[in-house]
Amino acid sequence: MSRYTGLIERYRDRLPVSADTRLISLGEGNTPLIQLQNIPRLIGKEVDIYVKFEGLNPTGSFKDRGMTMAVTKAVEAGSQAIICASTGNTSASAAAYAVRAGIKAFVLIPEGKIALGKLAQTLMYDAKIIQINGNFDKGMALVKEVAELAPVTIVNSINPFRIEGQKTAAFEIVDELGFAPDYHCLPVGNAGNITAYWKGYTEYARYSASHAAVTRNLPIMCGYQAAGAAPFVAGHPIENPETLATAIRIGNPQSWDLAWNVQKESGGWFDKFSDEQILAAQKMLSQFEGVFCEPASATSLAGALHDISIGKIPEGSRIVCTLTGNGIKDPEIAMQQCADAKPVTIDASLDAVKRAILDSL
Ligand SMILES: *Cc1c(COP(=O)(O)O)cnc(C)c1O
Repeated sequence: MSRYTGLIERYRDRLPVSADTRLISLGEGNTPLIQLQNIPRLIGKEVDIYVKFEGLNPTGSFKDRGMTMAVTKAVEAGSQAIICASTGNTSASAAAYAVRAGIKAFVLIPEGKIALGKLAQTLMYDAKIIQINGNFDKGMALVKEVAELAPVTIVNSINPFRIEGQKTAAFEIVDELGFAPDYHCLPVGNAGNITAYWKGYTEYARYSASHAAVTRNLPIMCGYQAAGAAPFVAGHPIENPETLATAIRIGNPQSWDLAWNVQKESGGWFDKFSDEQILAAQKMLSQFEGVFCEPASATSLAGALHDISIGKIPEGSRIVCTLTGNGIKDPEIAMQQCADAKPVTIDASLDAVKRAILDSL
């Protein structure tokens, strides 16, 4: 078995690279698909739920799948600098891949609205951080304008190479399960990722057909948003999106038409969930399955559990939920979630420690 060197190498035949392309990679992709064992029992439903834990990518989010492709292609085209607007994870990822490539990264972030871990990472990767007193949507508009005036390549998900890289998550799922799930649930912000998964599933189905393998049904795509930032549920952009799930605090999704197309073609739907429901799902995954994702990521499970409970997703279904980012990204929310479980300090004596153990058993 050869050493794993990243998703472009693995799916080279289905990505826009040539034999001469210099690959900018940190070994992204190949993330675990974990079958939930305790939560289905807890809710008393006969369902197979798998979580695709994208928090285990090199910078801790699925953005790395798109970034390896986008930066590879930017470098191939001779670009010396990349730029993005970000709620945090895109900036961390862009910064890391820019360092790897030896080019510059500029990132626009909304002041005070990015999780601590993401800011720390982006600083460590030595990106040029431009903080604006406006939200993501404002930053995105500025990035599009400035890229017309300065020699910088945009690496937000409006860059088509981002979608190309991200579609490989669907390839991995079908490769591993041997079939496509019945339902695929995702948190939706700019809707690049739901677009990418659908592209991946449909391409895989065509690819299998041409290789005479068994072609299974395509999944129904479920896109879930935070209640305070749910333009797809409202049917129009939202002026002032608000949610604790900062990664999806987006009011004007960049892949608007593409995501509606996914909804129609797959027979899926959009829905929204409160911050309380999202945080409860995040806690549940940590507490009962040992999987710690960031708040936005848990929106996929919050949605799946809701739709299972009302029978919209029927028993017997095989469901994949994408967990887009790592829980360590947002330590402040995690600490708030566990405010009642603050550790108590006791005497450093054998007797006191023994008593502490016996009291908790
Ligand atoms: C970027 C991001 C999302 C949203 O993905 P879109 O492609 O913008 O819909 C969700 N969760 C996390 C953790 C993210 O970083």
